[in-house]
Amino acid sequence: MIPILDLSRQYKNLEADFTKALIDAAASTKYILGPNVKAFEAEVAEFLGVKHAIGCASGTDALLLAMFALNIGRNADGTQDEVITTPFTYIATSESVVQAGAKPVFVDVCPTTFNMDITQLEAALTPRTKAILPVHLYGQPANMPEIMAFAQKHNLKVIEDCAQAIGSAIDMDGHMTKVGGIGDIGCFSFFPSKNLGAMGDGGLVTTNDDELAARLRMLRVHGSRIKYDHEEAGLNSRLDELQAAVLRVKLPHLDTFNGNRGAIAQRYSEKLAPLADKITPPAIMEGRSHVFHQYTLRLHTTDPDVRNAIQTAMSQAGVMCMIYYPIPLYAQKTHLKLGYSPGSFPACETLRHQVLSLPMFPELTEAEQDTVIAALTDVINAQPESVWVKTAEPALA
Ligand SMILES: *Cc1c(COP(=O)(O)O)cnc(C)c1O
Repeated sequence: MIPILDLSRQYKNLEADFTKALIDAAASTKYILGPNVKAFEAEVAEFLGVKHAIGCASGTDALLLAMFALNIGRNADGTQDEVITTPFTYIATSESVVQAGAKPVFVDVCPTTFNMDITQLEAALTPRTKAILPVHLYGQPANMPEIMAFAQKHNLKVIEDCAQAIGSAIDMDGHMTKVGGIGDIGCFSFFPSKNLGAMGDGGLVTTNDDELAARLRMLRVHGSRIKYDHEEAGLNSRLDELQAAVLRVKLPHLDTFNGNRGAIAQRYSEKLAPLADKITPPAIMEGRSHVFHQYTLRLHTTDPDVRNAIQTAMSQAGVMCMIYYPIPLYAQKTHLKLGYSPGSFPACETLRHQVLSLPMFPELTEAEQDTVIAALTDVINAQPESVWVKTAEPALA
């Protein structure tokens, strides 16, 4: 079976380096914010081209710390700040808004990029809007030039959810700028399956603002700048020293890992081109790079039974495929009280039934890629013609 992700290959390739780094970190006995965390923060800040990188316990905590640092939450008079975000992402994006006491306000996504549709921002704006929280989904940056311009015009903060996109970049005023260094705060995850994954949980916040950086550093250690002196309620959310040791082994290889992902994606898209009437491969927008956390294509059908049948047939052919994400955030039980109806987000409703993600990790061999391509070609062509939507409906734009 070709898995969607196999971490064991990367582990084996780097095993000797991990062993040494982990044993050294263990022997140092400096387990909390020790030398590896310090060094990793400097190295990843350099990699990302940001002034400050601050490790924390997870990507979810990174988002929560960002909310706290920007004073986004519930106000003294009981009103809630609002954060405009996308419903087509992992739950952590909106969950952090709720945990901070604020209210997520969803906008639909662009069916080509799967990212926040910037034409919907205006309608989502209220006097309580405090921030925009774009997600760089699957590894491709959201439309940051437009999002930053809108934020500036309306005096809003921008928090980037970079959990799936470490290393990807977008043209900002003629400069390719890596995600995490564009908005006020960037939030990263080192969950093992991410492009830069630890051997457990880990996260990072980034900023170019000195004051925000100092506040974030304080918030991750119980709201304290000086030991036993607590200015406000923070979190216990530090990047673990052993995880930092692991991340320092992997970071020098990240460009190669991301390059391999890009090459695999290009090969998939080229070889799947004959299926163009039946599937749409992921688009790479001009002026953006894509680090292919996922290779997610769209089936030209919204019939869940057809996609189920395709996924099952792929599995029988020895290829694991996944659905990211089957339930949009507005339809999650925890968010039903926000009062959205599925009709509010037509692009999202279409995509949730169309998306299919193929195996994607840097060590996937060419032979395996060919197996994936051959299996998908056979399975797609085996479906009756009647299942495919032929009209050029706008959702396929
Ligand atoms: C993984 C992920 C997160 C959360 O990261 P954790 O480290 O698992 O807490 C947040 N947002 C997105 C888009 C993610 O994919």
